[in-house]
Amino acid sequence: MKKIYKQEYFNYHESILVVCQDCENDATVKNEYCHKQTTLECRHCDLKKTGLDLIAYKAFINLYCPVCAHQIRYEQGNFKEKPKNINVKCDECDSSFQIQPKTEKYLNSYPKEEGLIHDPVFGCPYYFQTDFKGKLFWAKNMEHLLEMENYVSSDLRIRLPYKMRMVEKLPTFIKDAKNREAILKILQKWKNLYK
Ligand SMILES: [Zn+2]
Ligand SMILES: [Zn+2]
Repeated sequence: MKKIYKQEYFNYHESILVVCQDCENDATVKNEYCHKQTTLECRHCDLKKTGLDLIAYKAFINLYCPVCAHQIRYEQGNFKEKPKNINVKCDECDSSFQIQPKTEKYLNSYPKEEGLIHDPVFGCPYYFQTDFKGKLFWAKNMEHLLEMENYVSSDLRIRLPYKMRMVEKLPTFIKDAKNREAILKILQKWKNLYK
């Protein structure tokens, strides 16, 4: 009997399963679309952060010493608050000055690893991801994984008029019949990994 594809899971937009940067188990990122409301929480350790915790400031100063005209440059990141005045010293004549720096706001995310997919706010790598013949294959969360499995394992992938967008937009290598067994195997492995 042929399995006809019918969507079973709908909530694959709601969260991202990522690797916890403290304990390396799975952690969950929610509300990734608005960094002020984004949360990162690990059910295995104490890690709990919001996007607001990541806001940091960089300060820049570039001036010529009013005493000896030597160039003074200063650059420093990781300020929790927007820095107002900074003490800089001239290397040449040792005079010091209180200067209001130029500032830049940024998100102090985890350093990203090249070639991997990460959540856009904290920069944690997706929990389900692997190289598949030179292409990155990933699942955003369990629902996404199960829906891909549901789709890939179907014999008949009839186009339905609505709510089909995720599976239809999947990269060709996932939908390709010749990769079917291998893709299903990876999905099964991921399912076993997540406990
Ligand atoms: Zn953890
Ligand atoms: Zn000077």
